[in-house]
Amino acid sequence: MSLLIYAESSEGKFKKVAFELASYAKKVAETLGTTVTAVTVNAGDVSELSKYGVDKVLKVSNDKLSNFNAKAYADVIKQAAQKESAKVILLSSTTDSLYLAPFVAVGLEAGFASNVVGLPLSTSPFRVRRNAFSNKAFNTTEISTDIKVLSLAKNSYGIFENTSSANEEDFAPSLNDGDFNVKVESVEKSTGKVTIADADVVVSGGRGLKGPENWGILEELASVLGAATACSKPVSDLGWRPHSEHVGQTGKPVATKLYIAIGISGAIQHIAGVNSSKTKVVINSDADAPFFKVADYGIVGDAFDIVPRLTKKLAAFKAQNT
Ligand SMILES: Cc1cc2nc3c(=O)[nH]c(=O)nc-3n(C[C@H](O)[C@H](O)[C@H](O)COP(=O)(O)OP(=O)(O)OC[C@H]3O[C@@H](n4cnc5c(N)ncnc54)[C@H](O)[C@@H]3O)c2cc1C
Repeated sequence: MSLLIYAESSEGKFKKVAFELASYAKKVAETLGTTVTAVTVNAGDVSELSKYGVDKVLKVSNDKLSNFNAKAYADVIKQAAQKESAKVILLSSTTDSLYLAPFVAVGLEAGFASNVVGLPLSTSPFRVRRNAFSNKAFNTTEISTDIKVLSLAKNSYGIFENTSSANEEDFAPSLNDGDFNVKVESVEKSTGKVTIADADVVVSGGRGLKGPENWGILEELASVLGAATACSKPVSDLGWRPHSEHVGQTGKPVATKLYIAIGISGAIQHIAGVNSSKTKVVINSDADAPFFKVADYGIVGDAFDIVPRLTKKLAAFKAQNT
């Protein structure tokens, strides 16, 4: 019996969530008295995973899997789980994995809990804590099936080094042609310097910035901080920014170390998607803006005055300290 993780990669490189999942899996495996096996799909150097406690890597290389396909990937994970007799299968909470996990669970006749935070509360019965109601509450879920599928809430555990020596093994699962009846023909990537998914810091702008021509001040701040840029829904609806930057309940979820909201009122649908960020800084000219209620730090003032001054100070600090 081992514990299996699906270590996500993109263009051959592991995503940050893969290392968080491996770190988490190591701890869960210790609790269960077992080892961690990772299954990878078209990943390059898989030895990186051993830094985070993975004991064995099943490497799948297949051109048919070069674009994400939930059914086919789920089949790969299912076969890996069966090969390893894994009883606990862990995935991340990326858009791909959240799509994938229910297919995996159905394939293995397993119970599935999404958005898990923290280590299992108990292993017998198997109980976990999950984010609920757009991260406003927690619930406790018990899974009574023999096999359990969990997806770990993003940025909820952290990345911890725990070096092991992972055995690498080529794995060639059988693929079902029927899984490729619907296939992605091409992928257009957004061209931001840092993606929201991989960023530790996100600088986000709302309608308070008045128009797309004013985004320079936000981009300069993001550049000094090495941050990704994001925006509220109306901003992308208005075409001021690409839809890939829309964050919130109906956009991308953000769970970064630092989220800076500039000229965003803090509507419930926006906050629902960014509330898991560790530190939230709000810059708004209206002292009564709802966002201040959930902010760790707030600056009441005109963004066009505050942001350039903040960027200048941070740039000077960076220059002194590098
Ligand atoms: C079903 C549904 C789903 C939704 N999903 C999302 C979602 O996923 N994400 C999302 O963002 N929204 C979502 N919304 C929309 C949401 O309800 C709000 O309308 C939206 O978040 C408001 O965007 P905003 O804060 O940019 O604009 P506004 O509400 O117009 O706020 C602009 C803010 O800028 C401030 N401001 C103005 N001038 C300045 C200045 N010079 N300096 C500093 N501050 C200034 C104002 O005080 C104000 O607080 C959804 C709505 C619905 C109904």
